[in-house]
Amino acid sequence: MPDTPDAPSADGLAGNLARIKDRIARACQRAGRDPSSVTLVAVSKTHPAEAVLAVAAAGQTTFGENRVQEAAAKFAAARTVRPEIRLHLIGGLQTNKARDAVRIAEVIESLDRPKLAAALADAIGREGRSPALLVQVNVGDEPQKAGVPRAEAADFLRACREEHGLAVSGLMCIPPAEGDPRPHFAWLAGLAARHGLPTLSMGMSGDFEAAIEEGATHVRVGTALFGTRPSPA
Ligand SMILES: *Cc1c(COP(=O)(O)O)cnc(C)c1O
Repeated sequence: MPDTPDAPSADGLAGNLARIKDRIARACQRAGRDPSSVTLVAVSKTHPAEAVLAVAAAGQTTFGENRVQEAAAKFAAARTVRPEIRLHLIGGLQTNKARDAVRIAEVIESLDRPKLAAALADAIGREGRSPALLVQVNVGDEPQKAGVPRAEAADFLRACREEHGLAVSGLMCIPPAEGDPRPHFAWLAGLAARHGLPTLSMGMSGDFEAAIEEGATHVRVGTALFGTRPSPA
């Protein structure tokens, strides 16, 4: 596991967590929402199990990782100490990792294509374990980004249910890095409402308060909690 150059101490992490929770509470207040309707997903990718345990000791139970292998090693270790930990997989998922993903995750947020739907349905059958599934929508229709294109999202939701027998519980998005994310959040919230989907994972370190104001039920916060990540090799 690569070490973070300026990794915060356990106290620093607890302080960061408290500040983020306070910001979540204030965003909920502005939006007239109950703070318990928003779950913080602590995105620990690239950070070691010790950082996860420090944040868990401060009361955090839900974590997010984007790579199955990294998550499996790190969370097997963390869960021996904190069995209550819940893991969300938030990164692009290869079909050959579907079975491992189903084995370790409580929530898989990156369902975005028919082949993956088929692989997850197969893995769920074999493992006898059913993580909650979110469909990732490429709200900006950006060519380099994962996710179902906007125009195909409704059809894909239907195919997940009718062709693959999958119960999708919500939607996830990563809006374009440039520009106002709010219209994207609002669009995704509308799609979820039209399909009766209760879970909306949207908002990261830079925009989670706006996402809460637009209806996010889950915000995925990494940098603001754990500090900057080492740049990918
Ligand atoms: C890394 C990541 C995050 C966290 O991003 P920060 O800007 O560090 O808060 C959220 N969602 C996904 C899908 C990610 O890959």
